[in-house]
Amino acid sequence: MKECRNVLSSKGPPRTGAPLSDTERRRRKVRFEHNVIRALEVSDEFAAKCRRGKVEEANSAALNMLGASSDDAVVGHPLAGFVGGDYAGMVEALLSLDVIEPQPVPLLLRRFDGGLREALLVVHPARELGEGVTVVTGRDIGHEKRLAKTAQSMDARFRLVVDGAMHLICLCRGAEVTYLNQAGRDLLRFRDAQPSTGWRIWQIFGAEYRDILDADMELLAEEDILPVRLHRFSEGAFDAQVRVTRLPSTGGVTEYMLEARDITALNRAVGTLRTMNETLERQVADRTRELRRQKGFVENLLTTLPNPVWWKDVDGTFRGYNPAFRDMHCLPGEEWLGRRLREVLPADAAARGEAGDEVALSGGKPAYEISMAARDGAVSHMLVNKSAWFDEASQPAGIIGTAVDITIQKQAEAELRRLATTDSLTGAFNRRFYMETAAEIFALSRRHGRQFSVMMLDIDHFKRVNDTYGHPAGDEVIRVMARTCMQFVRAEDTVGRLGGEEFAIVLPETPREGATALAERMREAIAALRVEADGHAIAFTASIGVAELAADDTAADAVLARADQALYEAKRSGRNRVVAF
Ligand code: GH3
Ligand code: MG
Ligand code: MG
Repeated sequence: MKECRNVLSSKGPPRTGAPLSDTERRRRKVRFEHNVIRALEVSDEFAAKCRRGKVEEANSAALNMLGASSDDAVVGHPLAGFVGGDYAGMVEALLSLDVIEPQPVPLLLRRFDGGLREALLVVHPARELGEGVTVVTGRDIGHEKRLAKTAQSMDARFRLVVDGAMHLICLCRGAEVTYLNQAGRDLLRFRDAQPSTGWRIWQIFGAEYRDILDADMELLAEEDILPVRLHRFSEGAFDAQVRVTRLPSTGGVTEYMLEARDITALNRAVGTLRTMNETLERQVADRTRELRRQKGFVENLLTTLPNPVWWKDVDGTFRGYNPAFRDMHCLPGEEWLGRRLREVLPADAAARGEAGDEVALSGGKPAYEISMAARDGAVSHMLVNKSAWFDEASQPAGIIGTAVDITIQKQAEAELRRLATTDSLTGAFNRRFYMETAAEIFALSRRHGRQFSVMMLDIDHFKRVNDTYGHPAGDEVIRVMARTCMQFVRAEDTVGRLGGEEFAIVLPETPREGATALAERMREAIAALRVEADGHAIAFTASIGVAELAADDTAADAVLARADQALYEAKRSGRNRVVAF
């Protein structure tokens, strides 16, 4: 069957691709011109004009494909001669226009260098150019095959990479899965025989996604990384991160790549971490609360403690003190903080405190008493204790001081001392204390080469007072007598009741003359006294003996004995008089 079809252009750009059918050519009024081959010089595909099978003209691409060095090598030669093996006869038939084949014929071209080149040739009848004329076009398909091979191998390598990837990777045309890698099969628990493709991607998503994905994958492609729960084919679900990427469009249905990775282990690790974190946070919170509680407790303790507490740096700078400390020093506020004792107290008091600090810092536990005058003038006595506090390296970091108010104890102590040393009837010192004092004065006077004197006093005819007015009246007389003696002496003198109505006075740093003059004034004053009893005014007198320290005295007793002798002399010589030894 002969079919008359002509091919190719002289209008429009040269075409060597899909050939036009003869009818089509006629419809488009395409006619070959005589310069067709020259025009096709611009094409990089094979073009030659043949007349009765022999090449008349060929473009550079044709010469190139045949490996011909010049036109001469080709022009005038039968084109079939350049066609290898079994194809030669077929090409001859086409060129002779015995057969019209509108489709490109794949064949092998014989090159001048002995090689073969795969090509697709189309033989277009070109009767308008003369009897038996054809225009042959064609293209080198060896190059394309090589490209295809490269592409194939690249594709294979790519698949290998994707297949070996750690995470699920699958390709979808719309929602239909067209590829699933091995990691994906493993992750979704595909059975061995189960095909990787032929399912729809929504099948592994939860119900809430299925409708959306079936309708439009685009929604997922807009998300970055999506945390979802994916469902396995067998059973079970797992937490995953999913990313959907739209692939470059090749027209038709949009393709997507879906990546997914199992984050169950990650979630578990994060959960463990979170639990650990929470535990840690709770512990920190508990500890903070405990510390705050302790701090609050300590603050409360310090605030409510009636004892003054203070703390200082190693150099003695005040770092803190409690309200009781403020009361002790009559401080309205924190004005001592950052300052040292010598900046806030008189020098002697400061020196005492700083000496205590020194002892504490060198490991001692100093304890000493101080007296503080309050604003109202009342004196309080405090017992101060100090000790160093140490840092983590066991180095002294500062000093802590506490004080206890011992005023009451001090008062009790003084009262006890008074009771132990005084006579209850008169308030004068008792015999024991008097004797001790006399011994002390003796020793002091000896040491410092000073003088001292002693007076001995005895009420005259006291028995008569008792006998006449009664014992209580006698007591009153004794009391009045003692009071008078005490009024006459200085603070450093000591009045003692030696017994009955007999008194003695030690006068430090007083020579005999001074003592005698004083005794005389006292005698006169006593004689002028009147003691009321039973409506009577009792008058009485006293005799006084005076003696002073002598160079050869070895004890106070010697002086007392001489005063006693002087007293005896006063009695003997008529009473109501002063006799100095
Ligand atoms: P003279 O002038 O020689 O001292 O005569 P006198 O009467 O005072 O004699 P003497 O000093 O020896 O007597 C002391 C008397 O004082 C003896 C005793 O009864 C009395 N007496 C002693 N102690 C007390 C006392 O505590 N109260 C009273 N009321 N009498 C006392
Ligand atoms: Mg007497
Ligand atoms: Mg007497």
